[in-house]
Amino acid sequence: MQEQISALRQQFQADLKNVHQSKQVEELKIKYLGKKGSIQDLMQHLRHASSEARPVLGKQINELKEEITALCEEALGAFSQVERAKQLAEEKIDITLPARRRYLGRAHPISQVLQEVIDILVGMGFSVQYGPDIDSDYYNYEGLNFPPDHPARDMQDTFYLTKDFLLRSHTSNTQLRVMEAHSPPIRIIAPGTTYRNETVSSRSHVFFHQVEGLYIDKNVSFADLFATMEEFLSKLFHTAVKTRFRPSYFPFVEPGLEVDIRCTSCQGKGCRLCKQTGWLEILGAGMVHPEVLKNGGIDPEAYSGYAWGMGIERIAMLLHGVRDIRMFTENDLRFLEQIG
Ligand SMILES: [Zn+2]
Repeated sequence: MQEQISALRQQFQADLKNVHQSKQVEELKIKYLGKKGSIQDLMQHLRHASSEARPVLGKQINELKEEITALCEEALGAFSQVERAKQLAEEKIDITLPARRRYLGRAHPISQVLQEVIDILVGMGFSVQYGPDIDSDYYNYEGLNFPPDHPARDMQDTFYLTKDFLLRSHTSNTQLRVMEAHSPPIRIIAPGTTYRNETVSSRSHVFFHQVEGLYIDKNVSFADLFATMEEFLSKLFHTAVKTRFRPSYFPFVEPGLEVDIRCTSCQGKGCRLCKQTGWLEILGAGMVHPEVLKNGGIDPEAYSGYAWGMGIERIAMLLHGVRDIRMFTENDLRFLEQIG
């Protein structure tokens, strides 16, 4: 028996030397300490021993059992620590890597500029009115002092749907509808889409956006128009812009004006953006023609007003330094992300 106990101890020590991971230690535990293990086997043999030797041998077997248990636990502790560290290292997520950027949708640059223009003008006391994209010749032209065959109609090549109906060539078609529906004081803006039968190029398109402005009250004068334009444009360009007013001709205003601002790129010295003139054309304006007031049911003797119209693409091009109007309709995500 004594020899069997010693042999088992040696065998265990030899086995333990070949163990390199906790899984193998668990196998050793089963082999030596399990219900059918070597220690249990020795216990079975005890009954063949003499009654005097039995307690001594029993004690030795128990000591061996405790020894094996302790060594196994020690080995398990050491291996599981190493194994856990290795697992952690393998499963580590490097959170310092930049996350992959996900593209988030956003408003189109034209919608953004349009909204900014609306926000500024609403803040200045104008309310928003919408006119129809498809309109009659009367609201788009004739009522606005463009008689049939008037040469001014050639200034705006028009998409006619029938003899009498067309795609509006400007948001000015909203003017008479508002005058018919409301009494002065009238202080509105009319944003919207406009259409012209033009050759598409870097500077013109068949489809673009305008914002119309209209103010009618007693004693409205040029000074009101100038002040409103300067305040609006300064807010839009986030700087005190310098304006210039040049005489121009639009049938529905008298007199008519072109409003220019001092070039925002070169401050008037002359550059590519302003074609070396130092000025940028920004919008058309004027005092509402008495005939137009009459057509709208407003007495031109009692009331006066000013109106203006501006192209949103033109403003967006100036604000973002875009040289080609076609970029806005090409849906190139690189462009939209860059200026959006
Ligand atoms: Zn310039």
